Amino acid sequence: MIISMRLHSTRQEIDQVCERIRDFGYKIHAIEGEERVVIGAVGMGDVTACLESIEAMPQVEKAVRISVPYKFVSKEYKSARTQVRVHGFEIGGDEFIVMAGPCSVESEKQIMQAAEGVARSGARMLRGGAFKPRTSPYDFQGLEREGLQLLAKARDATGLAIVTEVMSDGDVGLVAEYADVLQIGARNMQNFALLKALGRTSRPILLKRGMSSTVKELLMSAEYIIAHGNPNVILCERGIRTFETVTRNTCDIAAIAALNELTHLPVILDPSHATGKRSLVPALARAGVAIGADGLIVEVHPAPEKAVSDGAQSLDLPQFDRMMQQLRPYIELWKEARVTEAATAV
Ligand code: PEP
Ligand code: MN
Repeated sequence: MIISMRLHSTRQEIDQVCERIRDFGYKIHAIEGEERVVIGAVGMGDVTACLESIEAMPQVEKAVRISVPYKFVSKEYKSARTQVRVHGFEIGGDEFIVMAGPCSVESEKQIMQAAEGVARSGARMLRGGAFKPRTSPYDFQGLEREGLQLLAKARDATGLAIVTEVMSDGDVGLVAEYADVLQIGARNMQNFALLKALGRTSRPILLKRGMSSTVKELLMSAEYIIAHGNPNVILCERGIRTFETVTRNTCDIAAIAALNELTHLPVILDPSHATGKRSLVPALARAGVAIGADGLIVEVHPAPEKAVSDGAQSLDLPQFDRMMQQLRPYIELWKEARVTEAATAV
């Protein structure tokens, strides 16, 4: 924070302001000019409360925040990429990770077919919701514990790691028993009780961007999880709500590049929820690789026409396989870029 005092403030007034800033836990670096004193405050504390309090002091002309409001997620705090370890591989390292599977776990047959199919095509993780956040209370809400058990069975059969959504803080323990990565859906990105509970688990978290959230808000939500004790956070761009209707959401592809500048955390793309249309998924997936995402999460269903949720944006297994083949040359270039990055970083 930089605090600018009014012209010709007295020593006593300056000291009072400095004392108030120190009360909030900051260190003071005062720059004393001929007529005006500017105070620099550094450290960790409640910036918003401190700014509000300082600005209310009559001797203060202006108080502004200069640093970003998040710390642990920022590149300034840690410049090297964070690699999140999952079930024998890393997200954020030198492998492009594809997670794929149905929107919802519906039955043993469906999840097994999906798991076997996506594994054959090169996916590393199986997705599938057992707890579903649905707009309508009358829509399928998920198989819950049974769905988690089916996912675990699919992991045993295929070796794929499991990513699945947890919707409430009370369910974190249950979902963490079965899942390798806990998914936080767009609708829950700012469920602060949930974010705090995620800080208390050691399972990696896949944090999806809220549909009306800024990149900064996404980073603040990640900061919550890390500040509460869990540094294993993966971010996900899944499209935001705009005036555009041709796609289900508007994919903020530039957010991935921006996040790569702002944070050391891995960032993946969900081209399925970002478009809502299966025909657009492969093209957007290629864009995700090209822009430097660390991976993709893609909806794939063995029979999309029968899916209980998000069938229109789900690829069938042959379509997924084709997409994975088309992605290959892009992923080769992606790997070269990672190697170059690693070589220039040392
Ligand atoms: C999902 O992954 O099925 C899902 C509900 O995604 P989002 O939270 O991004 O809408
Ligand atoms: Mn879905």
